[in-house]
Amino acid sequence: MTVEQLIKDRIKEQGPMSISEYMALALAHPEDGYYIRRDPFGVQGDFTTAPEISQIFGELIGAWLVTQWVIMGKPQAALAEIGPGRGTLMADILRATANVKGFHEAISVHLMEISTTLRQKQWNSLAGKHPDILWHTGFAEIPAKPLLLVANEFFDALPIRQFLHSETGWQERCIALASNDSLEFVFNEATPPELLKDEPVSDRLYEYCDAANKLMEVVSNRINSYGGTALVIDYGYYERSHGNTLQSVRQHESHDVLVEPGTADITAHVDFYNLTHAAAEGGCVIYGPVTQGELLGRLGAKERTIALCEKASAKQKKLLLSGLARLTAADQMGELFKALCITHPSMPKPEGF
Ligand code: SAH
Repeated sequence: MTVEQLIKDRIKEQGPMSISEYMALALAHPEDGYYIRRDPFGVQGDFTTAPEISQIFGELIGAWLVTQWVIMGKPQAALAEIGPGRGTLMADILRATANVKGFHEAISVHLMEISTTLRQKQWNSLAGKHPDILWHTGFAEIPAKPLLLVANEFFDALPIRQFLHSETGWQERCIALASNDSLEFVFNEATPPELLKDEPVSDRLYEYCDAANKLMEVVSNRINSYGGTALVIDYGYYERSHGNTLQSVRQHESHDVLVEPGTADITAHVDFYNLTHAAAEGGCVIYGPVTQGELLGRLGAKERTIALCEKASAKQKKLLLSGLARLTAADQMGELFKALCITHPSMPKPEGF
């Protein structure tokens, strides 16, 4: 049975479903979910992410992680990535840090990934890059020790709910079955999460990602107890509400969220306001969000690109320069994408923030 049929059957039996239930089934259903069977990345796929655009992304983050590790006093640590995609970011991090004295010996590498297809890709990308790499399905499985964590374009894939406040109270935007058997959005009466209850503005749509907030708090808790730092990069906003950001993409084009679920990516912009709130609950100190353009600029994106260009062919040079522009220019990924860092309270302000 396709995910679409499963969703429709469930709505027939139980009534309208929340957007979060819909996203969870469409993206992560254990047999037919979007991420489970497919490799969605690259020109042939549905979308392209920063590490797939340029090697400098992973190299700069690798150098940043080493700086943080040195500040932490060079402990034995867990280097973890959540939602590693094809494994490109981790491969670049490991390659860029291979010559740092003591670093690879001090770390074990942990990848949190639900997709078996992508685990296989990651295994291929990372072959021979580190002797101690483990895969996990949940954060709790990552060993309790000082943590160096990265998450790029992970939180946007987590299921959100949408709430609207109007004169008559709160309603939730849900998904129902229309008379012609297609899917449609409807509003149902609902009780919103506690965080949204204070100072609601009427006729404004609020999004709420429980999974993101819970995970952020758990990561923050771990760092508060064992030391370390986490870097989260994603497209998102910091205002209290940003309206409807639910979107679907297939083959690099915008796709209808409600059409053929399971065959296209569905995401929502990351609510950095609530993520920050959740991280604070876990006890960490928070830096940012700063824009991706600001972060990469401060970490030396331009200088690194120029250095690489010196040894590159004309064709490679062109790719490196267009990659730099895509990652950092305000009208490309530079401004929409934001970086948030959380650290153990004993650590100073991190580089780039
Ligand atoms: N960081 C990568 C990929 C981003 S796409 C890059 O920048 O290219 C999102 C990734 O998160 C995919 O690998 C997907 O399979 C994984 N993922 C989605 N939901 C997940 C979940 N609940 N737990 C673990 N991994 C998940």
